[in-house]
Amino acid sequence: MARVILIALGGNAIKQADEKGTSEEQFRNCWKTTKHISEIIKNLDKEDRLVITHGNGPQVGNLMVQQKLAEGIVPAHPMDVVGAMTQGQIGYMLQQTLRNHLKKLDLNVPVCAIVNQVLVDKNDPEFFGDKASKPVGNFLTEEEAKEMKKNNPDYIIKKVKPNGERCWRRTVPSPDPISNLEAEVIKKLVDAGVVVIASGGGGIPVLEDEEGNYQGIEAVIDKDLAGERLAEIVGANIFLILTDVEKAKINYGHPKEKALGKITFEEAKQYFEEGHFLAGSMGPKVKACLRFLENGGKRAIIASLDKALEAFKGDSGTIIEKD
Ligand code: ADP
Ligand code: MG
Repeated sequence: MARVILIALGGNAIKQADEKGTSEEQFRNCWKTTKHISEIIKNLDKEDRLVITHGNGPQVGNLMVQQKLAEGIVPAHPMDVVGAMTQGQIGYMLQQTLRNHLKKLDLNVPVCAIVNQVLVDKNDPEFFGDKASKPVGNFLTEEEAKEMKKNNPDYIIKKVKPNGERCWRRTVPSPDPISNLEAEVIKKLVDAGVVVIASGGGGIPVLEDEEGNYQGIEAVIDKDLAGERLAEIVGANIFLILTDVEKAKINYGHPKEKALGKITFEEAKQYFEEGHFLAGSMGPKVKACLRFLENGGKRAIIASLDKALEAFKGDSGTIIEKD
């Protein structure tokens, strides 16, 4: 049976935590990342298909700083537009570097990044009260936080670290992705053999009004959960989440910490419910894997980007399968 693989790339695939985020650095990281991907493509059969999604946290953060600082000269753009900008930027870097690798390998596979909207529900709990859970932008002092709130009364600003000088950050809703608006065209491209890069940064979050019109909203969708929706669209049977750790762990950060190798759906579900995976990082990855398997996926893998090919072959990472 033909394999359809969905690869979700974490933040470290594009920008390392200790880097400033210059274009040169990001191209260098994308080059390393797409080398791994090209090695996977080399291992595929003719009828296999591949789709890629990626995060955009640091890029959105940096662009928002630029918007803020240049406000008096050029107008600042809202988060949905900034999200679209980063899909363009990262999509460009990934498609160019991947093409260059494929050329070296003499593989004639088309690659295409698309600007992609993801529908969310206006009644999602994240939009109400102070439920918004995703911190964005710079860390602020209490003073700066108060100032920001004064200038932007509708902003939700939360203390996101227990102590230190800068513990405050603007926080935006992180609603659950419902569906991918460009699903049909993505499916057509994938069926035609195109390596599609889509749903970048979790997709541009949009709401639908009573008349069926779509409109962007200031929110951030988790890229692993949105990646799972993308996997459903393209009928993926393998979901490969590449991040900065080799495996998901139970008792994370405790003396009895244990890295997980091959586990069943039931085991993963139990560990998830017991709260072993932190919200906002490993939590949504495991949740996305569980959804993927529930929706008919065959194998979900959480692995280190550096071991992408090994993980794809089943020799590295946390591998979750239904019995
Ligand atoms: P990405 O950019 O790849 O989505 P995240 O930072 O969101 O990366 O998620 C990966 C991080 O999840 C790891 O670096 C680790 O710090 C954190 N993490 C939280 N809980 C766990 C766990 N139970 N096992 C392993 N890593 C965990
Ligand atoms: Mg993440």
